Amino acid sequence: MKAVVYKGNGQVTLEERPMPVLQDERDAIIQVTLTTICSSDIHIKHGAVPRAVPGTILGHEFVGKVVETGKAVKKVKPGDRVAVNVETFCGECFFCKRGFVNNCTDVHGGWALGCRIDGGQAEYVRIPYADNGLTVIPDNVTEEQALFNGDILSTGYWAAKIGELHPADTVAVIGAGPTGLCTMMCARLYTPAKIIAIDTDEYRLALAKEKGIADITLVPGRDRIEEAVLQASGGRGADTVFEVAGGKDTFQTAWKIARPNAVVVIVAMYEEPQMLPLPDMYGKNLVFKTGGVDGSYCQEIMDLTACGKLDAGFLITHRCRLDAIMEAYDIFENKKDHVIKYAVRVGADD
Ligand SMILES: [Zn+2]
Ligand SMILES: [Zn+2]
Repeated sequence: MKAVVYKGNGQVTLEERPMPVLQDERDAIIQVTLTTICSSDIHIKHGAVPRAVPGTILGHEFVGKVVETGKAVKKVKPGDRVAVNVETFCGECFFCKRGFVNNCTDVHGGWALGCRIDGGQAEYVRIPYADNGLTVIPDNVTEEQALFNGDILSTGYWAAKIGELHPADTVAVIGAGPTGLCTMMCARLYTPAKIIAIDTDEYRLALAKEKGIADITLVPGRDRIEEAVLQASGGRGADTVFEVAGGKDTFQTAWKIARPNAVVVIVAMYEEPQMLPLPDMYGKNLVFKTGGVDGSYCQEIMDLTACGKLDAGFLITHRCRLDAIMEAYDIFENKKDHVIKYAVRVGADD
């Protein structure tokens, strides 16, 4: 079968690999039908994910069809259309029992797919703990609507959940990339008064506004960010700040635009250490929550998608087939052509 393989040293190639087989009675084999490229794949390519193992098939955001299940698998059966959780978790350890599945102590617990074990930029993939990692896609949800269920939408949903949002709050989201847009969408579920989106990319901000998920858009360099946030929040600052950009100075912006006693959720994956200048923020009494999604809400997200309350399908700006995925990598990595997300079709069309 064809698969995208991380070779180490900044190299990713499309090559032939053997078909996956069941290794445990809790595994399932999935025929991938739609997959995508995530910025985490680009982080792996750049060597910024130390735990990523060279030789691994990339891809942790995809949907497909169950073709085979181990005999302990109960929730899914061959033929089911499924969305896949980015995280692998046993469901039984100390952390899993408390919903902290990102910290599952299983040998492959946490983010393993497409990082430490073969992922879904391929024709077929083995999913460990299939009952935990797979969510059945209802008939009225399309593959494109379900594609982001287990990764960026899970991240946005989890971030909004830990953001301690209240109705009529002022929410600031730094970063209007795919995960930033998902975070805005999920924060909307909590009926904030306004969402302020901050990004250097005016095209993405315009999209956020057009889709009704951002009310105010700010561009560093064009706008005075701190002043504009104060003005939009009765002089207080944002009630909750989501830092989803991971840029050079975006962490500093995050705590500066937060009001005293605000929650600052750090969703971004940084490539460098960040400064926490405690003397400068003394008296602001901030609460910081730091990232690494707990993908515990895939079913809730699927239910919200099925009833029309969440729809991330608009993030798909580009489509191609698996044969053309290396060109898609180039466009996605270099943010060409206003790309937000790719939908990469695998196998025959439906
Ligand atoms: Zn990802
Ligand atoms: Zn566990």
